[in-house]
Amino acid sequence: MVKTKSKIFTTEDTSRIDSEYKLLADNLFRCDKPGDRELIDKAFRFANEAHRDMYRNSGEPYIIHPINVARIVNQEIGLGAKSVAAALLHDVVEDTGIPLEEISKEFGPKIASLIDGLTKISGTYNKETNSLQAENFRKMLMTLSDDFRVILIKIGDRLHNMRTLDSMPEHKRMKIAGETVYLYAPLAHRLGLFAIKTELEDLSFKFRHPRIYDEIARKVKMDEKKNLALINRFSLPIIEALNNNNIIFDISGRFKSIYSIWKKMQSKNVPFEEVYDLLAVRIIFEPGPEMSERAQCWQIYSLITDIYTPKPDRLRDWISRPKPNGYEALHLTVMGPEGRWVEVQIRSQRMDDIAERGFAAHWKYKGDVTQTESELDKWLKHIREMLANPMSDPLTFLDDFKMSLFSSEIMVFTPKGLLVNLPKGASALDFAYEIHTDIGNKAIGAKINYKLSPLSATLQSGDQVEIITSNIARPGKEWIEYAHTAKARNAIKDALRDQSTDRIQKGMEMLEQKLSELGILPNSDIIRKLLENYELLNKDELYSRIGLGLINLDDLRKILKKAPEGSLRKYWKLAIGGVTRKTAETREQSPLPGTINKDQPYLLRENVDNTGNSYVIASCCQPIPGDEVVGYVDHSDSIIVHKPKCPVAVKLMSSEGNRIIHVRWTIHKLASFLASISINGIDRIGLLNDVTTIISKELNVNIRNVNVSVYDGIFEGTIDLYVHHTRDLNNLIMQLSNLKGIASVKRIEEFVE
Ligand code: MN
Repeated sequence: MVKTKSKIFTTEDTSRIDSEYKLLADNLFRCDKPGDRELIDKAFRFANEAHRDMYRNSGEPYIIHPINVARIVNQEIGLGAKSVAAALLHDVVEDTGIPLEEISKEFGPKIASLIDGLTKISGTYNKETNSLQAENFRKMLMTLSDDFRVILIKIGDRLHNMRTLDSMPEHKRMKIAGETVYLYAPLAHRLGLFAIKTELEDLSFKFRHPRIYDEIARKVKMDEKKNLALINRFSLPIIEALNNNNIIFDISGRFKSIYSIWKKMQSKNVPFEEVYDLLAVRIIFEPGPEMSERAQCWQIYSLITDIYTPKPDRLRDWISRPKPNGYEALHLTVMGPEGRWVEVQIRSQRMDDIAERGFAAHWKYKGDVTQTESELDKWLKHIREMLANPMSDPLTFLDDFKMSLFSSEIMVFTPKGLLVNLPKGASALDFAYEIHTDIGNKAIGAKINYKLSPLSATLQSGDQVEIITSNIARPGKEWIEYAHTAKARNAIKDALRDQSTDRIQKGMEMLEQKLSELGILPNSDIIRKLLENYELLNKDELYSRIGLGLINLDDLRKILKKAPEGSLRKYWKLAIGGVTRKTAETREQSPLPGTINKDQPYLLRENVDNTGNSYVIASCCQPIPGDEVVGYVDHSDSIIVHKPKCPVAVKLMSSEGNRIIHVRWTIHKLASFLASISINGIDRIGLLNDVTTIISKELNVNIRNVNVSVYDGIFEGTIDLYVHHTRDLNNLIMQLSNLKGIASVKRIEEFVE
């Protein structure tokens, strides 16, 4: 962390510090054991002295940061006095040069070991693995095996840094935001810190995509009034019913986070309006003495369903079987006013506490040993095993760790009662492959809880699943769509590949056989004629159809006699020549001039005079001028330009954030960049012609390749282009969308987040 010690605290600074500390000290939560308050005061005095005259980038005294981390750790995560003290001291060793031994002498070995876990490795690091960040993350997790609190304090530290990202040095912001969404948000989620996870995602998203964030925030705001009114109308009869039954409760409207709206829009490819359709309210009740919490949840459930009709398949019971991260609640969806679905979440105060504060809240309710904790224990054990493996290098470790955050979310059973863990959303087919590849390959259906179900059926935790197999069954192409685990998908792909190579081989032999009967030698002219006649795109498809028996070879002689009728072909694959401009990928890679100044954005100049500035456009995300971009300095000191949302870039931010730099486009007039658009709609005569006419009229755009196909009247295609700027591309997309018959035109971006 960069701090300046250039001036001495003013009286304003000291009174600011005092009032911030008072805010913490006066509102301490669960710090009332003897000595707690003294410990916290002592830690504050020590840290305040150590950080004296230090400022953050924002100009406020540095100590404000540890004070706020301590507040988060105490009030939002629910940790006690030792953790509050450790949070106050967390940057002392790293930033002020006070040795760890001194902390140990003053505050004892426990707090010293917490601080050690929070202190980054300094100076040199293993050049080979080249990831100081990964090393640091691993070190932090090492302490986790002794004390879980390190990681919770680290999450508090990260949350405050994200809330005050402007106070961080500019070159570190992108790294911090990337690392947050890649590691810390999933980690917070795994630990059940739901509120913090949501906030981390939103803050990171806001920084990485300010324009999209603002746009969604604006739309949310616009709908808010209307939705609030709807929620009020919806809640009134419920409030009345609950009051009549003497239930003490709190009801409030819930709104989706901006990040989760955006994620849904991306993954489902739907507009904002469709994602934002679902309204939600939460009821938090104080359990009465005469009934168990669980029974009371169901009582409230029945009071609500007396008023509104529930959607039967949307009941989520996490009170009988909590989620692996400890979440307990009863969710139902009912038909609300104006025909809108409303999700109702029912929780007791204890359940709410666990949902908001996560793992730490469990300590508050001792004696409540649920299976949840053993799930978390299992995860911790797994992490410890990973840490104990001396072979894993830090980067592999980082990947494994990230995967472990998303591990098993549902538990299902075999007919014999064996437990199988699968990711959330897994289908019966995933289950089949999880048991054995052969069972998967021969599956034809499933019995879920004794009910016959298709292989595509989504499994729920607790389901008992039996797979029905047949010896003549074979995987179909469509299986890929309802396989979710990597294991199932790979097995299906393998099986399909075997099937299709078999078919292609068979088809080729059949064709050669037939041709030799006719006394014709196979050549490329014949193949082309056949492709044209059957409207196929390539040889393999032709052979495979012959192999399948879909093409009758008795027609062969007739077809080969026919004259070519190129004008009526229903597919086109034209490569327009003459585009000889250098693409970004082939740009020269001369060495970087001197060092890169991290405080200033590196300008991506058009390389007209060979004076040295060089950069490479990342082939994974292919940004073009006008796109938001970040730079990564690779190990031969070339600058690779990525889109910030590119998964490769996100990963680099987390593992090699020190090599991420700010870059900015300059005006490019000569260089062209490759971009692709996809286009589809209802086919009509002349449509392709209209499309190409528009493109050819655009002066700033050059076509590289057009690939269009038509079937069942649907026109679908991709067009590769060279452009100078996103402006050119957007212009073109707008014009094409206005064409009659075109349903959608989109820029192709290879990844979704
Ligand atoms: Mn810090």
